Amino acid sequence: MDEFELIRRYFARQPDAPPVVTGIGDDGAVLALHANAETVIVIDTLVEGVHFPSGMRPADIGYRAVAVNLSDLAAMGARPHWMTLALTLHDADPDWVANFAEGLFEAAAEWNVQLVGGDTTRGGQCVVTVQMAGEVGTGRALLRSGARPGDTIFVTGTVGDAAAGLQLSVGATRDEFLESRFARPSARVATGLELGGIANAAIDLSDGLAADLCKLLQASGVGAEVDLDKVPLSDALLARHDREQALGFALAGGDDYELCFTVAASRIPGKGFDGATAIGRVTESGGLVCRAGGIVVPVDDSGYRHFR
Ligand code: ADP
Ligand code: MG
Repeated sequence: MDEFELIRRYFARQPDAPPVVTGIGDDGAVLALHANAETVIVIDTLVEGVHFPSGMRPADIGYRAVAVNLSDLAAMGARPHWMTLALTLHDADPDWVANFAEGLFEAAAEWNVQLVGGDTTRGGQCVVTVQMAGEVGTGRALLRSGARPGDTIFVTGTVGDAAAGLQLSVGATRDEFLESRFARPSARVATGLELGGIANAAIDLSDGLAADLCKLLQASGVGAEVDLDKVPLSDALLARHDREQALGFALAGGDDYELCFTVAASRIPGKGFDGATAIGRVTESGGLVCRAGGIVVPVDDSGYRHFR
């Protein structure tokens, strides 16, 4: 049983009811607690040895713990406000904690997010959980479920860098750009805020483009055609890997924390979206069909799973 089956079976107990607008199944929960705005709550855990290698710089661990939550809020089109932090450590090393806190607050300061509480415990391995809350105009949250046939599919930035960077960071070769794409993801909060009322659906890319796009397609009950020749790959990634390997990182690697979103043709601005690339279109059905050089290429959509 993978974690999604566990969640479906044991935790997704009841249909959403007020004040829950959107519950389990999206990048964040949407709650109608006030008259003119909705609250969005997200949470993400980083486990040493699973989400980051032991020995990763503590400042980067702190930065990343915040950035991945900012990314989920970005995927919901929400403006970040405050966070809580649950921290499990094997020992109380003041230097480590000071550096961790520096990275954490550096990422939080970019969106003026305040730390308002948390929990600190001792345990066998380092585990960092950040919960974050944000706000979105009523009815304007970007959901995974809104994609419509005919929509264009966009992806921000470049994909595949983080997975390649992670691989390098545990080896002997250094590449500052690729490694920083893993250690310090740039959450696309500004793009998420711009897309409210424009995009039909959005998801952030944590498990790989193929797996995450499939989650969006499934939530929306649609299919998609993606042109792999259009998937944005960085020069740094292509300098180290051939196109096929680079696409492997992009489709199945994960950890990019870019946004994938779909927009109806009538809502796409003439000059497109700043920092985003059109990679395909939404279809009525048929799952995810990927083409390279016009030829259909089988793509594994399994992405990262914690349990198999
Ligand atoms: P993300 O990659 O954005 O974190 P996932 O697709 O992994 O989202 O998560 C699937 C959904 O399941 C999310 O809506 C998440 O909030 C929910 N979820 C995950 N674990 C639990 C849990 N233990 N209890 C309730 N909901 C959960
Ligand atoms: Mg997400």
